[in-house]
Amino acid sequence: MSIRYSVVVPVYNEEAVVKECYVRLTAVMESMQEPYELLFINDGSRDKTEEMIDCLVEQDKRVRLVTFSRNFGHQAAISAGIDLSCGQAVILIDADLQDPPEVIPKMAEKWKEGYDVVYGKREKRKGESLFKRVTAKVFYRFLASQTDMDIPVDTGDFRLIDRKVCDVLSGLTEKNRYVRGLVSFAGFRQIGVSYVRDERFAGETKYPFRKMLNFAMDATTSFSKKPLKIAGYMGTVLSIASFVYLFVALYQKLFTDRTVSGWASIVSIMLLFNGVTLMILGIMGEYIGRIYDEVKNRPLYIIKEKNGFSEEE
Ligand code: UDP
Ligand code: MG
Repeated sequence: MSIRYSVVVPVYNEEAVVKECYVRLTAVMESMQEPYELLFINDGSRDKTEEMIDCLVEQDKRVRLVTFSRNFGHQAAISAGIDLSCGQAVILIDADLQDPPEVIPKMAEKWKEGYDVVYGKREKRKGESLFKRVTAKVFYRFLASQTDMDIPVDTGDFRLIDRKVCDVLSGLTEKNRYVRGLVSFAGFRQIGVSYVRDERFAGETKYPFRKMLNFAMDATTSFSKKPLKIAGYMGTVLSIASFVYLFVALYQKLFTDRTVSGWASIVSIMLLFNGVTLMILGIMGEYIGRIYDEVKNRPLYIIKEKNGFSEEE
């Protein structure tokens, strides 16, 4: 019988959670009584993650493992999962059990009702630092304000995606991927189910601040040109202001004797303008860097090894 569900789990140095993740996912998937595969994408882990999953592949023929040649990042890992899975519906879920597998049957129900994408909406986030919760809240709202597309807020990559949407996603070649944005871009019938995001089962977050910032940049630059527009507006407003000030300066020079005492104003204007110019250059740089990535057209990920796939796949 053909595979009904593919559960895609990206793992990066997750030796502390792999076992429990397998147990919880297997329990849930077995309860659904339909053929499934459990596809782990090892994103260049340097701990025992790979060996542990190799063992699982030996024991359980529903488990498959794809190992990257190095760390390519979470978004590349789930993209690979979408590309390499073969189920009629693909479920993306984190390995750390923050997204409870018990929500999957609810998603499957919606899918059977005819929805093509069922995304998990985080009602609450447990056991995460105040910093993470606040930055996440701000980020989702900032992104929503910047883009014209309808990307649901407080929604991670935990979701069920129908094969036809997966095919659309696999066909998109962009490099700095914000997968949940791309899913919105794809369209089709989408719906959310609410859940409470748990604490990490074990281990620590693999998203340090640097990766979070980069992720936010990818999301914004992929789905909005507004920062460029704002840069343009800012330039225009400041040009007009400085033009007006030109007349003030000329007036002072010609009709008063206060010209020499202008040091403070000149320095502050210089600092302001240099700052704004550099900021605008920075925004443009972010976009240009991403154009550069697209032009180079390097692969999104490189596979070192596959384990548990049958011959014809
Ligand atoms: N992950 C990955 N590559 C990375 C970083 C993370 O494959 O470079 C995986 C990680 O193993 C986990 C998921 O992505 O399964 C989410 O990561 P994490 O739980 O650390 O992120 P957080 O929940 O803290 O945002
Ligand atoms: Mg997590």
